[in-house]
Amino acid sequence: MYGEVEGTGFEIYEPEFGDCLIGHARVERLWTGARWSEGPAWFAAGKYLIWSDIPNNRMMRFDDTDGSVSVFRAPSNHSNGNTVDRKGRLVTCEHQSRRVTRTEHDGSITVIADNYLGKRLNSPNDVVVKSDGSVWFTDPTYGILTNYEGNKADSELDDRCHVFRVDPDGEISIVAEDYVKPNGLAFSPDESVLYIADTGASHDPDGPRHIRRHIVNADNSIAGGEVFATCTCGVFDGFRVDEAGRLWSSATDGVHCFNTRGDLIGKILIPETVANLCFGGPKLNRLFICGTTSLYSAYLGISGLSPTRPV
Ligand code: MG
Repeated sequence: MYGEVEGTGFEIYEPEFGDCLIGHARVERLWTGARWSEGPAWFAAGKYLIWSDIPNNRMMRFDDTDGSVSVFRAPSNHSNGNTVDRKGRLVTCEHQSRRVTRTEHDGSITVIADNYLGKRLNSPNDVVVKSDGSVWFTDPTYGILTNYEGNKADSELDDRCHVFRVDPDGEISIVAEDYVKPNGLAFSPDESVLYIADTGASHDPDGPRHIRRHIVNADNSIAGGEVFATCTCGVFDGFRVDEAGRLWSSATDGVHCFNTRGDLIGKILIPETVANLCFGGPKLNRLFICGTTSLYSAYLGISGLSPTRPV
């Protein structure tokens, strides 16, 4: 559905956000029919978007050549976050199988991580690949708390939820262990900063509902970790960074955009809770937004970061 979708709109708090918009561009609802949309990833070569419909145990595919939507993979092991690695391959967090996988160019599946020191992961949630090929992912317990988005099970990691990194040689390390429910994550354009969301407030009203900012050291350890932004409507789930380093995050009322200082400069209002988003289209100037039952998009005056860009 193109044109004016009820409940959508743009709120501009700083002129910088106005400069990110196209005057006559509107939010479009591209498709509806999911239960909980998450994990969008854009595949430039095929001109399509993949995303997860977690409770329905399937991954969907939006074809930008004709606007059609079809099932990409089912069952999907209740997949959640997806991204594209440096070679254009799909990398997926799977709740049910409690692992992170890569889909090779020939369609075969390679397991990137499914345990830490012999103990099963909780339920990998979101993932990003750094330019050196290392795979960074969050591991909260959402996928093992109930049977709705995975299989109900006990944590083998003492209910602790870490951020992990898997190096190209396969070695897995804990990057951060002071998160309640680590969720979305993304690097700054030059990869000197790593942002990580904590959605601990989902199960504890006094829990964190913020994104923290870490410095990335040369050895891929991280430092700092001050609160970058606190969510004023729900929690920050998944997010992406654009070419100028602005951070575009999901929230309950839509998309919140922050400048590099952490100031909220504007919002894209969406009539459903947004769980994640990504930049796509040939020019990466189209924001694809996963809003619960529906896939939305909006063309912008700026572009996102290509996952295969030189850094
Ligand atoms: Mg998430």
